[in-house]
Amino acid sequence: MTVTVVTGSASGIGAAIRDQLVQAGHRVIGIDRQNAEITADLSTADGRQAAVEAALRACEGRLDGLVCCAGLGPTASSSSLIVSVNYFGMTELVNGLTPALARGTAPAILLIGSVASVHPGMDKLPMVTAMLNDDEAGARSQADAMGATQAAYAGSKYAVTVFARRQAVVLGPRGIRINVLAPGAVDTPLLQASLADARYGEAVRNFVAPVGRNAAPAEIAGMACFLQSAQASFVHGTVVFVDGGMDAMTRSDRF
Ligand code: NAD
Repeated sequence: MTVTVVTGSASGIGAAIRDQLVQAGHRVIGIDRQNAEITADLSTADGRQAAVEAALRACEGRLDGLVCCAGLGPTASSSSLIVSVNYFGMTELVNGLTPALARGTAPAILLIGSVASVHPGMDKLPMVTAMLNDDEAGARSQADAMGATQAAYAGSKYAVTVFARRQAVVLGPRGIRINVLAPGAVDTPLLQASLADARYGEAVRNFVAPVGRNAAPAEIAGMACFLQSAQASFVHGTVVFVDGGMDAMTRSDRF
């Protein structure tokens, strides 16, 4: 049976991915702050290390899939927390579980990015440079100095996308695929918190995808399951937007 680790498995998109992977016959090892096979806090280096060690024990050192979904939105309590969970909570899981994936069958990694990652200027942010240099303390202090959680969110999603595309070159020869799924607005507790926020609510409400509605988590999970499946065996190092046309609407001449 295919064994897949899913972070953020207790809620929203991660829970929908978990359900569809189980329906497709995977054994899922969920990681989350609560209601998961492995309870861990991915915002700290110790929590991430504990999560990796517990996952390696649970899969007995051999893993076929990794889906990193755990993340915080712009309403999180600080920019530094967003950086730690959204970037290091994904990259350290990839790095820690790669040896087990190398022993798996047709192994595949999927990172959940965001359509927010294409906001202009993300590549110029000092916090992004620090993230890509694996400097968590520096990225956290740069993010807090900027003092804009929306920028920390978009910057973390841009950085994790760049990380994945760089890893594609490294992991491809080892037989491990890696891709990014970039959702648009999806009806989950994370989006509800943004809609209810005095700073962001109106902008989120007004930014409507061309299809005229938000996604249900299951619509994101369907693409996630495809990308993790044998049907996607030549899909590697790419970013798939599942956004109802938001990316096409905002930058139709760039792809
Ligand atoms: P959600 O809040 O429903 O789920 C997020 C999950 O991550 C929760 O179960 C939460 O407990 C877990 N998590 C958060 N911090 C954690 C930590 N420190 N340690 C362990 N687990 C932690 O949100 P969602 O909308 O399902 O978001 C899932 C992913 O999709 C996130 O990476 C988010 O950035 C991304 N995304 C969401 C949307 C959207 O509109 N909902 C759009 C684009 C991208």
